[in-house]
Amino acid sequence: MTTGTNLEIEDSLVTSSESKATQDASKDADDQVTRCSCGYDRHHHWVSQERKYSSWNGFWVMVMGVSARPLRIDFRCRRCKEKFDFITNPEELKRYL
Ligand SMILES: [Zn+2]
Repeated sequence: MTTGTNLEIEDSLVTSSESKATQDASKDADDQVTRCSCGYDRHHHWVSQERKYSSWNGFWVMVMGVSARPLRIDFRCRRCKEKFDFITNPEELKRYL
């Protein structure tokens, strides 16, 4: 009796082919410009800025004519009477001093 030992050598060829799906997440930075019904943005000459001051700042603006930083600026179109945009961000308000 001959005992034959079968040695099975498994060649495990694991080929890991990683297909990297490069996703182009390049979004177009479309600046969202708020416009009124006429299509005017806040810089249009039909659009006026309505500045809101705190009571103390408003006092100095009216009495002394000093330029105080407003608390809020509303943008209203004089044509369609629409208040379509406003600013309350202090950093942004500085640009409208
Ligand atoms: Zn308008």
